[in-house]
Amino acid sequence: MNDQSNAPSPMTARQMEVSRKISKIVELTDISKDCGPLADIPLEQQIPLPPPFDKIEEEPAHTPLTDAAKEKYECDLDMTIAVNMPKPGSPEEEERLVNSFISGMKKLFDEENNWTFLQPLIISAEHCAKCQTCSDACHIYEESGGHDLYRPSFRSEIFRRIYHKYVKGESTWVHGDIDLNWNAVARMIELSYRCNLCRRCAQTCPIGVDNALLAREIRKVASQEMGITVKELHEAGSWLQQKVGSSTGMNDLVVKDNLEFIDEDTTERTGVPVVTPWDVEGADILLIHNAGEIMAWPENPGAFALLMNAAGLSWTLSSDLAAYDGINYGVWYDDVQFARTAMMHMEAARKLGVKKIILGECGHAHKALTVIADRVLGGEMNIPRESCMAMLLDIVRSGKIKFDKSRNDFPVTLHDPCNMVRLMGIVAPQREIIQAVVPENRFREMAPHGVENYCCGGGSGFAIMSGHNFAEWRHRFSGRRKFRQILESFQDEPMDNEHPKYVCAPCSNCKGQIRDIIQYYDAWNKAGIGYGGLVELMVNAMEGVEPNYIDWEWH
Ligand code: SF4
Ligand code: SF4
Repeated sequence: MNDQSNAPSPMTARQMEVSRKISKIVELTDISKDCGPLADIPLEQQIPLPPPFDKIEEEPAHTPLTDAAKEKYECDLDMTIAVNMPKPGSPEEEERLVNSFISGMKKLFDEENNWTFLQPLIISAEHCAKCQTCSDACHIYEESGGHDLYRPSFRSEIFRRIYHKYVKGESTWVHGDIDLNWNAVARMIELSYRCNLCRRCAQTCPIGVDNALLAREIRKVASQEMGITVKELHEAGSWLQQKVGSSTGMNDLVVKDNLEFIDEDTTERTGVPVVTPWDVEGADILLIHNAGEIMAWPENPGAFALLMNAAGLSWTLSSDLAAYDGINYGVWYDDVQFARTAMMHMEAARKLGVKKIILGECGHAHKALTVIADRVLGGEMNIPRESCMAMLLDIVRSGKIKFDKSRNDFPVTLHDPCNMVRLMGIVAPQREIIQAVVPENRFREMAPHGVENYCCGGGSGFAIMSGHNFAEWRHRFSGRRKFRQILESFQDEPMDNEHPKYVCAPCSNCKGQIRDIIQYYDAWNKAGIGYGGLVELMVNAMEGVEPNYIDWEWH
């Protein structure tokens, strides 16, 4: 295995020069000022990418916000809109919203209202050594050229000042002052959506401060106390899933229809009869996919069914409301929505009497139903949950399926989903699986990787947020570090589409973000960069099935 160094590649002289030019000091107290946007970084000041994407003039043109959007919505953070907050119609409305924000902040620190996250929240709100180690760890801060607004501690330090002044009523001489008006509240809510909640910064903080948690709790105040949410996460996400069954809008009949089609297609392409079992009482495993796979990447659930059947596992999908879609967007912005969806998943498993739930290739579904659900589930609802990575590794180790590595004779790199590696420590299984299905000289690690990976840029909901100019922001800032890493990992290969290269991203949201960034930079046509999941690589190498399960045309 080509195990490259885990250190990020150093900046080139040109990158450092650009970075120095962009750096701008924004004072914490600017957050309250009626002074227009605090950042609006022009394309010419982006840090250059590696070849063949190193010519700034060939990058997609920057599209500014429309005048209509500027007129109607709050955009004084950085001329980007994620949240769609209409401007309040009167000073009274502004005052009501500010008071509601303060009330929400107080509830965050009240055990009755926030027992789930209170302890880590207090630690992060009370302490910070101001060493800025976290800034160096943040890909968004780095790709902004070091703009203060995107410093992890910028948002956190304002949060702390609000906490000390408005929640605890403490001296502003000791903790620093902040004027909490509507400018500050609107900017803080938007700013909470300039963080992928990837916790790379939290991992490096010498005293364990979790800047991601603070960003997430601001989102929670906005949602639970003020009714301010991101449409893609809330109305078209949590609500749709709880009402119809899936954030994709598929009800149980539609999802079964789609899976039937996927079974037929997989059978045709592999020559192996594939049938997906539904609602099997007493099965060992309830498999829960991210339903986005069923809609956008049907080869993924097809490959799961093929592998699990071939390994002789006792498994089922559930057609119960929400139980065929592992997404739980509440984990990014709202505890109530989170708990409702988690309960629906667990109830489906309890009803079927399965021994355990296995989560498909979806990082945030892993986080939601394992680590976070452990805080709210008890008794008979606490059914064992596992990552699909453990099951897939068991399949490989069992020897029940034979793999021919030579079928995956193309360069492969691996993206580590933050929620699997950093949050849950699942690092080795996916690598052992790759060792079994990819020729040794064809695999190369990204630098850095494993628990030190960079977020794909789509974390915390960004991958499905594309309103106004937000998609462009995520490609230019949150996703650019990952794109840089992908390019660096393939630098020893001919960069054209005659030589396909595979970015293995075993997470539905990461895959969506990587798809989008490949399209944004036209990286398939310019460099032959494609992407897909892990199970597709496994089936592509499986003996006894028709070759070429991976169809580069997908990507
Ligand atoms: S690394 Fe930790 S202590 Fe240092 S500035 Fe960041 S949050 Fe504060
Ligand atoms: S959680 Fe990730 S995106 Fe957010 S501030 Fe930390 S490193 Fe940056």
